[in-house]
Amino acid sequence: MPLLQVKNLTKRFGGLKAVNNVSFDIHSDEIVGLIGANGAGKTTLFNLISGILHPEGGDITLDGRPLNQLSPPRRSLAGLGRTFQIVRPFAMTVLENVMVPLLARDPHMGKAREEGMQVLALLRLEHLADTQPDSLTLAQRKRIEVARALATRPKLLMLDEVLAGLNPTEISENLPIIRQVHEQGVTIFIIEHLMDALMAVSQRVLVMDQGAIIASGTPQEVTSNECVIKAYLGEETPNC
Ligand code: ATP
Repeated sequence: MPLLQVKNLTKRFGGLKAVNNVSFDIHSDEIVGLIGANGAGKTTLFNLISGILHPEGGDITLDGRPLNQLSPPRRSLAGLGRTFQIVRPFAMTVLENVMVPLLARDPHMGKAREEGMQVLALLRLEHLADTQPDSLTLAQRKRIEVARALATRPKLLMLDEVLAGLNPTEISENLPIIRQVHEQGVTIFIIEHLMDALMAVSQRVLVMDQGAIIASGTPQEVTSNECVIKAYLGEETPNC
């Protein structure tokens, strides 16, 4: 059984079908990338899956459990974690930021501190545990966002442009961290505009265009797909 099943999901904003009858599955242990031009519907799809937006139609299940009627916090408890494009850490230390979701589940302070440090170690932030996030680089604050999502102990972690705005060195430092999170048994669904980075980290890639999934395959398959070349790169192709 797939970990995430999305069936016929549709979301309209006025006359615009931002997500148009979208269906796909994600299996446990996959890293699946989601690409598409600006406005293709990627973040709307994440918002529907995480429960921030409600669809006009369609079904979402996680580990066989229907999510449609669950609030975002209940979806988090069911195993869905996500990050947001705009990083807004709380005005408290890096460790305290990560302890907030842990304490929401279990009020034992010592345990939350210990688990928080483990999450920070995975994200290579442990040396910054007592630092205030506003004194850190964007790359480090983006990692705090991932750490906070990871602290909810997700089965599926949805990453929304966690590499955007980083320089090439920071991107090459962050890619192995994403792989290590995956090696810990977390399934990953990642939106990214940076094609090279997304292709390097994803086992499978979904391509969105105008609210629809127009291709799904290995990075090599989608980059040679004529419809993807036309939709994503804007190049004219004979068959699409
Ligand atoms: P980007 O890569 O720029 O983040 P995206 O693929 O994530 O784009 P979405 O943000 O999902 O695209 O937007 C899909 C379409 O829905 C766009 O045309 C956008 O303007 C529109 N849209 C998104 N959110 C809303 C909203 N709350 N109200 C009205 N229209 C919206």
